[in-house]
Amino acid sequence: MAKKNVPNIAYELEKLTASIEQEDLTSKVWSLPSAFYLISFQISALAAILSIVVLYGYWMDVEFLYRPIMQEPATHPVTALLSLSLGISILLPNHRPLINTTKKMLVLVCGVIVLIAIIDYVFNTDLMPPNIIFEQEVFDSNGSVFVNYLSVNTAIMLLMISCAVLADIYGRQNFQQLIAYLAISIPCISFIGYAYGLETFYSHMSLYTAIIGFLLGWAVLARTSNYGGLKAILSPYLGGRIARYQSISGMLLPFSVGLFFVSLSNELNSSYIAVFVIFVTWFLVLMIGISAYVQEKIDAARRELTEKLILAANTDPLTGLYNRRQFFYLGMKELRRAHRSGSAVAVLMIDIDDFKIINDTAGHDVGDQVLIAVSNTLSAVLREFDLVCRFGGEEFCVLITDTSKQGVEEVCNKITSTIRGLDINSWTDLHGPVTVSVGACLIEKKIDLESALKVADAAMYQAKSLGKNQTYYSVAFSSVNNGLQ
Ligand code: GH3
Ligand code: MG
Ligand code: MG
Repeated sequence: MAKKNVPNIAYELEKLTASIEQEDLTSKVWSLPSAFYLISFQISALAAILSIVVLYGYWMDVEFLYRPIMQEPATHPVTALLSLSLGISILLPNHRPLINTTKKMLVLVCGVIVLIAIIDYVFNTDLMPPNIIFEQEVFDSNGSVFVNYLSVNTAIMLLMISCAVLADIYGRQNFQQLIAYLAISIPCISFIGYAYGLETFYSHMSLYTAIIGFLLGWAVLARTSNYGGLKAILSPYLGGRIARYQSISGMLLPFSVGLFFVSLSNELNSSYIAVFVIFVTWFLVLMIGISAYVQEKIDAARRELTEKLILAANTDPLTGLYNRRQFFYLGMKELRRAHRSGSAVAVLMIDIDDFKIINDTAGHDVGDQVLIAVSNTLSAVLREFDLVCRFGGEEFCVLITDTSKQGVEEVCNKITSTIRGLDINSWTDLHGPVTVSVGACLIEKKIDLESALKVADAAMYQAKSLGKNQTYYSVAFSSVNNGLQ
């Protein structure tokens, strides 16, 4: 029982297990992917509210509510109406058949309307029905420098968002993620246009439209937070953390450098700088997403292997019970806790009677089956917080927490009688029941685990010498034979 190195190895293993458990906890309870998923509802609600504000502006004739910057583009009422529909459709649940159909119809109508707007722009046709909503107000507000209409970049953005919502309904998360990511790039180009003062970049997209589109894009993208590249970027593990820093710096750095150079350049050069910034930023984030995805896959496999390694290091392969090392580590902790709280703990040493005869008569395979059956019985009979360990060949030890003299007797009786009643193919049917001898030590004094096990071991040998198939009870260092069977 000399285990000088055990506490150190066990400590290292426990540290590793704890860190893995901690990470698992993070990923299950407070994970970024689930937070993103939840936030997607709030974001889409915000987009829907902003769209209502725009429509309210048209209704009450408050220009500021649909044209955020005077002399600059306004959000067209059709854009606001479509955004409202898309915002609501993201909010609606997918699993209710009737709501699902309504959602599909809503998104399809949005998709068709923006498609008509794109066709009108590309082929110079006039298919878009006039007077959909607030047409008079739009006509009246056209006196500003910018005319008020549903621009092609807004139409493309809304078409992409519609496709992403449809992909969400049909469970095509990868497509949804990619198209939502592309959709977000359009309002971002407008933001860069507004920040750099480049009219060509925001062209006819109002700042409100850009904000609403940005929110809608994120809302639908966030719904894929448990998939692919986004999951990898949001992962609580090291790869995810690095990817997040890279993504943020990959966006902020080119943007700030671009802003600096734009302030030094003329309009034409500024355009080149802006195009470069947009390209670099989007390319960087895409690459980071892909590499984070690959890294996360490799890392997930490594984590799984580490968990298996920890399990292998702590358990017995035949029975799946704790091995000595883990028993000592957990047992010592439990004993310290019991000494502090003053609760009684007991250790049992259990040895299968005449196991050599089982092996010699029926072979090792049957012997193994007996070991498995006995260990399963121990796990089943004992409580969840009790510790069961395969101590050696056909010896098991048990640590029972928060118990009493009577409690120990009950457990020992249950163990011996259940094992006696076991039905093991090729043995009990031919040679009679399997029996065990148990040595029990009730720990009432402050005594270390090794000493308690020695007492239980001695008690077990007493049970053997008294004829096997029985329990011998000891209390701390003073042994008392109860003669129980
Ligand atoms: P007693 O009633 O006094 O305990 O006698 P016993 O025969 O049970 O005890 P002994 O220590 O003489 O024999 C234990 C045997 O357990 C010897 C060893 O070959 C066998 N054994 C140890 N590990 C395993 C195992 O993993 N599988 C099998 N099948 N047998 C094992
Ligand atoms: Mg033995
Ligand atoms: Mg034995």
